[in-house]
Amino acid sequence: MNIDDHAEELASDLGVDKEEVKADLQNLVEYSVPVDEAKQSVRRKYGGDSGGGSSGPTSADIADVTPESGNVTVTAVVLTVGERSIFYNGSEHVIHEGELADETGKISYTAWEDFGLEAGDVVTIGNASVREYEGEPELNFGESSTVQPADEDLSVPYEVGGDRDLTDLEPGDRGRNVEAKVVEVEERTIDGRHGETQILSGVLADETARLPFTDWDPHAELAEGASVRLEDVYVRQFRGVPSVNVSEFSTVDLLDREVETSGPQRMNVVEAVDRGGAYDVEVVGNVIEVRDGSGLIERCPECGRVIQKGQCRTHGEVDGEDDLRVKAIVDDGTATVTAILDRETTETVYGGTLEDALEQARAAMDTEVVADTIRDRIVGHEYRVRGHLSVDDYGANLEATDFRPTSDDPAARAEAFLEEVEA
Ligand SMILES: [Zn+2]
Repeated sequence: MNIDDHAEELASDLGVDKEEVKADLQNLVEYSVPVDEAKQSVRRKYGGDSGGGSSGPTSADIADVTPESGNVTVTAVVLTVGERSIFYNGSEHVIHEGELADETGKISYTAWEDFGLEAGDVVTIGNASVREYEGEPELNFGESSTVQPADEDLSVPYEVGGDRDLTDLEPGDRGRNVEAKVVEVEERTIDGRHGETQILSGVLADETARLPFTDWDPHAELAEGASVRLEDVYVRQFRGVPSVNVSEFSTVDLLDREVETSGPQRMNVVEAVDRGGAYDVEVVGNVIEVRDGSGLIERCPECGRVIQKGQCRTHGEVDGEDDLRVKAIVDDGTATVTAILDRETTETVYGGTLEDALEQARAAMDTEVVADTIRDRIVGHEYRVRGHLSVDDYGANLEATDFRPTSDDPAARAEAFLEEVEA
């Protein structure tokens, strides 16, 4: 369903003007509020019930809570608490969010009021509603809910508190704390909620992984080379990989130790795909095919997209610019991924420059000869590919930052030799 359909449904449920609810919905969705959550808010605004049905709250085990549960009462340990502001109808609303657990399971929550929750608290939450958030049930509580300390000691099979290694962060995580080194950072100006806004973006690293980050409320401690402890960050998917978000509610403190960092994470394709994407990973596999659209290509001078026969999908007829790239299907035995090589890396695997490629194509009166040359050189060989793996509807892509045959690599050769000897 698109926004229009959602607005249609809301308008007919609530008996109000469609354009009006559509504007409200769009406003929320634009600020990253999930569409289900946005619809609930719009329902509340127009006095509809929040979609939880008319059944009274029932006490529930967390493992049994589903979006069909209606309103529920749960007793749980607060695992994590994060604070975040969302923008709605011209003003900011501060929400609290994180995870709760009992002996049976754990669940994400959003608190629309400040109940003073802290990690480790055991509380009974009365009259919470359940909605679906990113495919999972989520507890929501606010004005019409009660939160009281529970006279119980719950022992739960989960870590209390938000401390995590970078490798354990996943899109949707909130209220996380990490200790990391700032390996890259730059200041950027964006068109934000309040007009032109300065933000920071860069890369964090620890012993386990590297991840991109965005600081929406620049903290001076986030300087290149600094080792820092970040508290109350949340994780979003950005360009197909998890990204750490630092907000006005996050704290950043310099550490008096230097955080050790490692190289790329060695990962198999299935593992990276299951995570919904991964930043700076290394995959080792065989090139089984060089896809169409490799070799000599033309890009739109306006938007940089690859064009066909001088036609850009957005800019119409343009004077294309020559470029080189490779889209190579790499199979690591668990799955396949399309490695995308930029011009520089393509020149290395082709064994010549863009000029050489143009020359070869002119001589053959066929541009395909360049892709064919690349095919001959790399198909059937094993490569170590480093880069950022993202997943879309068509499969997994690996934007390569490094691509080299494992035969160039003494460690890999030794490994392969040992495997052969031991087999
Ligand atoms: Zn274009």
